[in-house]
Parts: sequence; structure tokens; C-alpha cells
Amino acid sequence: MINLVLFGKPGAGKGTQAAFLKSKYQLFHISTGDLFRYHIQGSTKLGILAKSYMDNGELVPDDVTINMLKVAVAENSDVKGFIFDGFPRTTAQAKALDVFLSEKLMSITATVALEAEDDVLVERLINRGKTSGRSDDQNETKIRNRFVEYNNKTAPLKTFYTAQGKFHSVSGIGGVEEITQHLIELIDGLL
Ligand code: ADP
Repeated sequence: MINLVLFGKPGAGKGTQAAFLKSKYQLFHISTGDLFRYHIQGSTKLGILAKSYMDNGELVPDDVTINMLKVAVAENSDVKGFIFDGFPRTTAQAKALDVFLSEKLMSITATVALEAEDDVLVERLINRGKTSGRSDDQNETKIRNRFVEYNNKTAPLKTFYTAQGKFHSVSGIGGVEEITQHLIELIDGLL
């Protein structure tokens, strides 16, 4: 099994790259952001709760997010591996993921951070907001708050996964295909 974690600030290109990696390595793609948006669309209890955080550019609480992730993994146990996009985003989530995967005799193969500067990301997100309709992409204050959340809560995962020898990073600047190529070279080198 190959289990990849893609992380990076909002707008770094996680979703875009996950779509390519998913077909290249035949992985099942789980995006917690997409799952939350699906729940919001369906006006489920989880969706209503998640929306109150997402609208402010804040992370959804760990317990809710972790449970949702576990359900998504359990529902798709018959796959060659997973690509986790936007999860884990906190140390508590990373620890919960390790425990949960080991219970299933699975583990993280590698984590890859897509790196790009804030100003480039703000521009990308504002552009995405014009067509995606995502309210969290239409307001610079909300966007900047997501960066603050990232720096405070997600950036420490670099230390967490480096300690496990599983942290890698790739530049998220450049053409989509070029970045995919760099990711593939990195992942192939690890397999
Ligand atoms: P982006 O990376 O552009 O912020 P996502 O679709 O990954 O987009 O996430 C959108 C929002 O969903 C986040 O700002 C956050 O509120 C919520 N979210 C997604 N994944 C998580 C997570 N693992 N933990 C907590 N909140 C999350």
C-alpha cells in the first residue's frame, strides 16, 4: 500500500496535484475540505457545524474532523492506498492518524509539503474564488486567517514527520505538469 499525505498552505495546489497522483498510483483521494463541502451542500449536522469554522478561515475541531476521516477510510478499505489531502492539519490529527492506520496494519508512506509564498497564494485564491464560488476564497482577511492557522497548527507537522523520516517538500511554484513531475520523481524514489 502507498499512503501519501499532501500538505501545504491553502492555494498551494494540493487538490490539483492529488488528482494527478491519484490516477498515477491508483490511490483513493480523501480531501477533508471536499468532505466538509459535501456535508455543507447536504445541510447535514456536520456540515452546519463545519461551515461556522470554514467561513471564518478557522480549522474545524479535531474530534469532528478525525471521526469524519475515519469513516471515509473505513468505507474504502478495498483500495491500493490513500492520498490524504488537507489531513492531518494538526499534531493531534497526525497522532490520531498514526494510531488509526496502525490498527488497520497500515502506515503513512510519505508526506509531501507543497511550498509557495503567501503573496502568490493570496493571488491564486482570490482568482479561484471568482469561479469556484467558495466564500472562503473571496475575502483576503479570511485567506490570511487560514495562513495564520496553518503557521500555528499545521507547520509543526514538519517536525513531527521529520522525526519519523517521512517529511519531504516540493516547490509549488511553476507549471502544474512540472510540479506533478517533481512529485512523481520524489515518490518513485521512495518506493
Ligand atoms: P484550503 O487548503 O484551500 O484551505 P481545503 O478545502 O483543504 O482548502 O479546506 C477548506 C477548509 O476546510 C479549511 O479552511 C478548514 O476550515 C476546513 N478543513 C479542511 N481540512 C481540515 C482539517 N484536516 N482539520 C480542520 N479543518 C479542516
